Formats: sequence, C-alpha cells, structure tokens
Amino acid sequence: MAKQIDCLFCKIANKKTDTEIIYEDEDFSAFYDIKPKAPIHILIVPKKHFESIIEIEENGDIEILGKILAFAAKLAKKFNIENGYRLQFNQGKKAGQEIDHLHLHLLGFK
Ligand code: AMP
Repeated sequence: MAKQIDCLFCKIANKKTDTEIIYEDEDFSAFYDIKPKAPIHILIVPKKHFESIIEIEENGDIEILGKILAFAAKLAKKFNIENGYRLQFNQGKKAGQEIDHLHLHLLGFK
C-alpha cells in the first residue's frame, strides 16, 4: 500500500481530478482509457486502493474480484458491447502494468 498517497487512479476514482467518471457504484469507478486500444476502452478501478491482484490474494479481499467482473458485465451491456468485449488485468511490469492500482481493462468491439 506504500504508493497510495500519490496514486493517480485513487485520485481519478474518487473524483479528485477532471477525468470524467462514466459509471460508478459504491466500490468502483469507470472512465475512458487515455490511450484506447479498442473502439471502446474503459478502465474499471476500485475506489479503495489495491496495488495489484497479488495484494488482493494476500489480503483475502477475494470478493472484490467477483464484484469487478459483475460491474464489467453491467457496463458492457450499458455500452451495447455485450457481444464482443475482452477483459484484461495486467499483473506486473513484465506484463505491461504501468499503474500500481488494481484496474480491469474493458475492451469493446462493435
Ligand atoms: P496498465 O498498463 O494495465 O497499468 O494500464 C494502465 C492504463 O492506464 C493504460 O492503458 C493507460 O493508457 C491508462 N492511463 C494512464 N493514465 C491515464 C489517465 N490519466 N486517464 C485515463 N487512462 C490513463
């Protein structure tokens, strides 16, 4: 949790920046990826800070993973991409994780 103080995604998810929040509930915020890699590219971010999927496993917050998938499915329907989307977690620098705050990529194809 050491990097939480200056965490960009904590700030975005908790509306401390100008980034538009396109959908939210009590646990998550969703916003457009600044460098989209699909026709619709949304990031889903827990409002609470988790550094990565590893931290969730270590701290026993497993239920957040079910909730984030359900949130993604709801969002996909809202954006009419339920017939073509990909969900992606990047874990670790070698896999391309740039931001040390857990996030799920929702990549939608029309
Ligand atoms: P990852 O590589 O899995 O850590 O994904 C981080 C993602 O965050 C990348 O796809 C970036 O394009 C995106 N990103 C970085 N800064 C911002 C920002 N300020 N607003 C929206 N998306 C961002």
